[in-house]
Amino acid sequence: MTRSRYPELVRTVLTANRLLTPEQVVDKPVVVVEGGVIAGIDSRTHAALPAGRHVELPEATLIPALFDVHIHGSGGHDTMEATDSALNHIGAFLARHGVGAYCATTVTAPLDSLLRSLSGLAKLIESPLDGARPVGIHLEGPFLSSHKRGAHPESQLLAPSIALFERMWQASEGNIRVMTIAPELDGADETIAYATRLGVRVSLGHSDANADAARRGVRAGAVTATHTFNAMRRFDHRDPGLLGEVLTNDDLFAEIICDGLHVDPDVVRLFWKAKGLERALLVTDAMAGTGMPDGTYWLGELEVRVKNGRCIVGEDTLAGSTLTLDRALCNFAEFAAAGFAQAVTLATRNPARMTGLDAEIGTLAPGRSADIAVLSAKNEVIETFLRGEPQLVPSTQGYFNG
Ligand SMILES: [Zn+2]
Repeated sequence: MTRSRYPELVRTVLTANRLLTPEQVVDKPVVVVEGGVIAGIDSRTHAALPAGRHVELPEATLIPALFDVHIHGSGGHDTMEATDSALNHIGAFLARHGVGAYCATTVTAPLDSLLRSLSGLAKLIESPLDGARPVGIHLEGPFLSSHKRGAHPESQLLAPSIALFERMWQASEGNIRVMTIAPELDGADETIAYATRLGVRVSLGHSDANADAARRGVRAGAVTATHTFNAMRRFDHRDPGLLGEVLTNDDLFAEIICDGLHVDPDVVRLFWKAKGLERALLVTDAMAGTGMPDGTYWLGELEVRVKNGRCIVGEDTLAGSTLTLDRALCNFAEFAAAGFAQAVTLATRNPARMTGLDAEIGTLAPGRSADIAVLSAKNEVIETFLRGEPQLVPSTQGYFNG
């Protein structure tokens, strides 16, 4: 009998109906996981099942765990609480919806509170947490246009400057991975260029920019756009503004909130035609009320009313969503008449590439962390494996056999 080189590693063998990644489709896949890492992917038709804990999911589709680059909270908690309890609740909730990684997204708040949240999040990003893992921070505000601030409190908006950004960068211990900024603001160009040099992915949004200002933002380093259509100057055929740039610049990534409330399904189709399989990103912009009953929830320091899934501040300003990313996949496939596999790419590979984390996140392949969402025949999430461990059904009572 040959002894394993890694006798301490538990081997798990997943079998399913189909495996979908941005690169391949495998029928009757056999996925071997050792020590939380994918050791091999093969098709059952030409592979005898290796020994190990066998998990048989004969109806299921396996996809890479999803990655949300714009999410404020879920399950009753907001990322700006920046406590391990809050992030454990959020992480566990997200794992139930197939998500393996996310950018903890902040909103505009008094500078001291924002700095406190950034430094709290920095500590948590380094520590072990339940469920989906925060892989960086998305700083949404305070460098936003007062005309397109959405729910962000006007009194706390600030003019962009390198000095101010540097304070936030220091507080975050270098964990700001994405920053939303309005490129037309004084000081935006140099702040974008500075953040870009530090490796931050700059996202244009909450902006009243005309086309020139939008292009200046791109020249300074911006690579993506925040919830396209929402909180942007309206498109006009004589004044295309930021939207014109976002929809026609093939180098720019672009987020969309595909909940049927933020953007009309017909406009989602237009977005798909413009941005396509390489550049479109599905995000949720979800807030604490996601997965919770109607009521009042915090978004940073804002009180938001949630009624029938709509998140409202003041009279009728949308303040985040109650969308989950698994739902966004199905909505996008329906609204845009895209294939489901294409929708998966928009919530796995594309956000991974946009953030520069594509060596770790966004596909299933040998050597990668075994972060796998398991979908039913109706594409509903029935299990999520993170680092090889099931998150929904505890392994002690689960389907392990053999
Ligand atoms: Zn947001």
